[in-house]
Amino acid sequence: MVFLPGMKKYSADKIFTGKEVLEKSVLITDDAGKILDIDSIEKHDSASIQNFEGAICPGFVNAHCHLELSYMRNRIAKGNGLVQFVKDLLTIRNEKFEVVLEEIEIANQEMIRSGIVAVGDISNDDHSLLIKQQSKIYYHTFVEAYGFKPENAEQYFTDAKKVFLKAKEMNLAASITPHAPYSVPPELMKLIYNWKENYPELFSIHNQETDAETKFFLDGTGDFKMLINDFFKLNSSEVFHPSGKRSIDYLLQFLPKEKKTLLVHNTFTTEQEMKIVSEEFKNIFWCACPNANLYIENRLPDYTIWLQVKDKVCIGTDSLASNNSLCILDEIKTIQSNFPKIKTETLLGWATINGAKVLEIENQFGSIEIGKQPGINLLKGLDENDLFTEKTAIRKII
Ligand SMILES: [Zn+2]
Repeated sequence: MVFLPGMKKYSADKIFTGKEVLEKSVLITDDAGKILDIDSIEKHDSASIQNFEGAICPGFVNAHCHLELSYMRNRIAKGNGLVQFVKDLLTIRNEKFEVVLEEIEIANQEMIRSGIVAVGDISNDDHSLLIKQQSKIYYHTFVEAYGFKPENAEQYFTDAKKVFLKAKEMNLAASITPHAPYSVPPELMKLIYNWKENYPELFSIHNQETDAETKFFLDGTGDFKMLINDFFKLNSSEVFHPSGKRSIDYLLQFLPKEKKTLLVHNTFTTEQEMKIVSEEFKNIFWCACPNANLYIENRLPDYTIWLQVKDKVCIGTDSLASNNSLCILDEIKTIQSNFPKIKTETLLGWATINGAKVLEIENQFGSIEIGKQPGINLLKGLDENDLFTEKTAIRKII
């Protein structure tokens, strides 16, 4: 190929493309970072190449975030469990609008610096839309519908629709999606899944984040009963009818098999459940948010179980209400330090191409391939076996 002004050549000790690992290779990009060629380094004059110590990988995809909660950084106590977390969150959800906006922008910039190029972002209101529209990051907005009273399902859905229509007006990718099995009665589930205007047609739902959810579905008791009765001042036995099955069974009866759905957290999903669900629902993806799970429940899923669905696993940071950073590298470091058998190459696939697939942006993001403009990150400080260490750091190159 003819090397034109503006083109750049990059190399490093290793290149994790998102799909494989290359050595002695060079990436050739245009000015904007579009990959024009991947070639053997020997064919190029070394003086023309920017050669880095460390490993190159594609830009990260953060599959689960709540940008609008960024002002809650360091405001909620750790380790008290999901139900207390929800109470704390709702109690402090009343910040001045300028502060909310300022913290959203700070968080957006923090994600750019930490090498994130695309985000699946949950919204309950329209606060983050303008910043998302103007950001260098690609955002898919999951507009959450939720509410406990079955008779108010239409109203809950109308509220979500307002945010969705605003996002659509601003040309943002957006879809209306359920919050969690315990907070979406069947009437509302049906409205969400009958809605045909999502673009792209993706769903996301918080799944099996706490054992209390399982208990609530089995017999209607436990922390969620107390939350509904004491905090929301409703009669839980009137608004919720336990199915006697686990929450995931309740959810699956509504899920359209042909559409992509991201199940988020899955801390209490068993090996057997994951196997059965993934066999029957080929478009389900599993999102790991380890640092949020440690923050809220002080517990991690057994990610070695997740290797059975490893081509469908993505990584999310969750929000700054339940995390100290919005950094995908911090998440995959946590996974590997607890489960050292999970290879760096596998984790980088979870952090890049799998997230791009679920958000349906893999034609541009997720892997270093000719024709894509995926962003390029440099990882420094991997050990001699390519494992992450405390010192592993990220630098965004493009
Ligand atoms: Zn979340």
